Amino acid sequence: MPKVELHVHLEGSIRPETVLKLSERNKVELSANTIEGLKDWYKFRNFPHFVEIYVAISKCIKTPDDIELIAREFIEGQAAQNVLHTEATFSATTLDKHNKIPWPDQHAALKRAIAYGKDELGVSLNFVLDIVRGDPAERGLELAQWAVGAFGDGVCALGLSGIEGICEAERYAEAFKLAHDAGMPIVPHAGETRGADSMAEVIRVTDPKRIGHGVRCLEDPAVVRLLLDKQIPLEVNPSSNVCLGVFPSLEEHSLPKLMDEGLYVTINSDDPPMFDTTITDEFHKCANTFGFSEDILWSLCLNAANAALLPAEEKRALIGRMREGFNAIERE
Ligand SMILES: [Zn+2]
Repeated sequence: MPKVELHVHLEGSIRPETVLKLSERNKVELSANTIEGLKDWYKFRNFPHFVEIYVAISKCIKTPDDIELIAREFIEGQAAQNVLHTEATFSATTLDKHNKIPWPDQHAALKRAIAYGKDELGVSLNFVLDIVRGDPAERGLELAQWAVGAFGDGVCALGLSGIEGICEAERYAEAFKLAHDAGMPIVPHAGETRGADSMAEVIRVTDPKRIGHGVRCLEDPAVVRLLLDKQIPLEVNPSSNVCLGVFPSLEEHSLPKLMDEGLYVTINSDDPPMFDTTITDEFHKCANTFGFSEDILWSLCLNAANAALLPAEEKRALIGRMREGFNAIERE
């Protein structure tokens, strides 16, 4: 099935094999030095362990070539799964902070991978640069300046990620204003580890084009109404939510209820190898667990294409290609 993915983190998509390669190349000590050991280490245990992996991975990325390598491997993986367009989140300030790779060098490396995807693989990729909650307001503002400077040149939106409870979105109001004034979309994470109140806050503070997760909006009918009125798409990541304990199991995930409410829902993988999944697996798991028909799966794919942050002309072409691909699927 031709797909579009809107919520996936580049650093969270690095395969254990690549982490091993980077750690050897850059002489970074990891808690395991074999593929088997790393695969075991990657398995989700709890949130602190997840953060430990994330930081360790980020420390293995030392040069712009490393960024290009992970972005190339990422887009190859997307193309292999028939993902025609991806909007991937990339934490530029983390790499600037840990490894002193200046943003212009990061940007150039990302653009080389985008060109590779387009020219060699026939799929498109844009990046969401995210402010990491907990960072000082000045750092958020600096990130927004980088994002705005690269808007339309490989960067399609400003994001907000990290642990929701750490600080209010309000802290970065100046950064969001800068993006708004430049006409740049904002796509914050919210309604994941905190409830509907956090979603109401990001809607008020950022006027988002989409919301990452948002799966806890049902806790407040007023927030559901707001999402419906504003037609804000939700980037749902089922396996991620189960791993992080937002829902005890996939069976108890709010996804079918969100759809019953008429909300604008898309399916995504978040940090696929860390949650032992892929975007394709997410569709399989949802189809099996919730009994989604082919029509429902297809409408979820189309939702993502419609919610993509692309110029009208490119979006029309993307949807046309998706329809073509969908109609060409051989059915038993
Ligand atoms: Zn995420």
